[in-house]
Amino acid sequence: MKRKLLISLGVVVLFVGAFGAMMATAFIGLAPVTPFTALPNGVVGVTDGYVQAFIVPCGDDSAVLIDCGQDPEAKVLKGKLAELKLTVKAIFATHGHSDHVGGCGAFPQADLYALEAERAVAEGSAAAKGPLTQMAKNDPAKMRKLTRGLSDGETVQVGTVAVQVFAIPGHTAGSAAYLADEVLFLGDAVAGQADGHVRNAPWMFTDDGDQCRASVQGLAKKLAASGAPVQSLAFAHSGPLQGLGPLTAF
Ligand SMILES: [Zn+2]
Repeated sequence: MKRKLLISLGVVVLFVGAFGAMMATAFIGLAPVTPFTALPNGVVGVTDGYVQAFIVPCGDDSAVLIDCGQDPEAKVLKGKLAELKLTVKAIFATHGHSDHVGGCGAFPQADLYALEAERAVAEGSAAAKGPLTQMAKNDPAKMRKLTRGLSDGETVQVGTVAVQVFAIPGHTAGSAAYLADEVLFLGDAVAGQADGHVRNAPWMFTDDGDQCRASVQGLAKKLAASGAPVQSLAFAHSGPLQGLGPLTAF
């Protein structure tokens, strides 16, 4: 009996250790995240637990959100918006994982956008396909419906801000990057490292890592060719990096 207990305990310790090591490889060496991060043109990164969402002011005391965090009440985001005296007009979800769309219900007046290809995951009718995320489908009763599904290459004007939409499938099938006010929002597709490089999305939360890498490389090429100014790269789970360089070097 005692032996069985010890074996069970050993298995648990091994499992926890392996899980810890897996998480450590995903997060060690990332550019540090701060509670609030000032980015160019008044854009603010807001940390909600272990994820960041971003406020992009768009004139007339209004703002666009890039993702809306994991807190169903969006307390930290709402606090910062109140401090800045901004009302949310529209939310652009980079993808449908719960830590990116969990707070959308707290902004019922705001339009909610994601790529059409991400609709099922964002609205909770399907799970994403990553090794761990496939076990964590959103609850459709708690999710907002999209106002409209976006297409790759379109630009959505909200107040003074033009949000350019790029499909970067891989982390999830409908993952998007958005370029607004010279900040490129990459969601979870890549993260910024403290050494100035970017790294691919962690495999255990990702549908298809190779596709994710190829999508990001394609986006970097497209943006470099277009000459569109990119002052900052904004990531959901790390601090930001400056300029497009880290992405073209990826
Ligand atoms: Zn994700």
